[in-house]
Amino acid sequence: MAIGRGFGRDTVVDCHTHTSHSDGADTAEHMVAAAEREGARLIAVTDHLTLPHDMDPACEASVPEAELGDLIDEVSAAAAAHPAVEVVQGFECDWYEGCEDNVRRWSEGATFLLGSVHWVHGAWIDDPDDRHIWDELGADAVWEGYVDAWCAACASDLPFDSMAHPDLMRRFEREGAAYGKDPSPLWDRMAECARDTNRRIEVSTAGLRKSVRGYYPAPPLLERFAAAGVGMTVGSDAHRTQDVGWGIADAYAYAAAAGFDHVDVPRADGSWDEIALR
Ligand SMILES: [Zn+2]
Ligand SMILES: [Zn+2]
Repeated sequence: MAIGRGFGRDTVVDCHTHTSHSDGADTAEHMVAAAEREGARLIAVTDHLTLPHDMDPACEASVPEAELGDLIDEVSAAAAAHPAVEVVQGFECDWYEGCEDNVRRWSEGATFLLGSVHWVHGAWIDDPDDRHIWDELGADAVWEGYVDAWCAACASDLPFDSMAHPDLMRRFEREGAAYGKDPSPLWDRMAECARDTNRRIEVSTAGLRKSVRGYYPAPPLLERFAAAGVGMTVGSDAHRTQDVGWGIADAYAYAAAAGFDHVDVPRADGSWDEIALR
């Protein structure tokens, strides 16, 4: 249970944040400054990695390819300006069919990669303003398609360090898009996929700020991940300064209650540390 370079149980780390280079509201400088104000020891800046034109025609959701260099320069500058906070250059990488070469090319220079699935059956599943895929296919098909894509992402040869918000398909479950069957087989399958492919998963506080009104993953899934011996990171998925570090201290208690004894922490130099939870 070594806490390599001084991370204690009360250390707040936030391993999932966005800037205005993708779909966030604020600059890297402002996000890192917010982390410092919040007393966070480490922040990973994980903008949505560049996407193919047909998935994000106006570059609204992801970092335009031409801005990748600027983003990395700005994250480095913010790190230098705020030595009290360790700043990790990451990306949140969508998994989609055939993404592998794109992800490898566009994520060069990052030390921490979140793998995530928002694109299912050829559509975004978490956009409150465009739920056509939910209307067309129904909730059960979207949930099941999500799990298929999530397991394919885990099984890909991309070096995803942690799988972000693993049960994102719950996004609209309190808005008429709950799963109509017993979800236990889905949870079992996801825990097996993460274990068999040696993926960490993320405990995200983002759902608490949305109609989900709970963490990703929900307890039945998180408990299965813990029992399977899967590693875990934490993140707020902040898209604005106010949410940096949001709910992280409570997320530690939530993860401990589900059976985790430590949080994995990616370091800026590419190494890993951990925070003991008990
Ligand atoms: Zn995401
Ligand atoms: Zn995100």
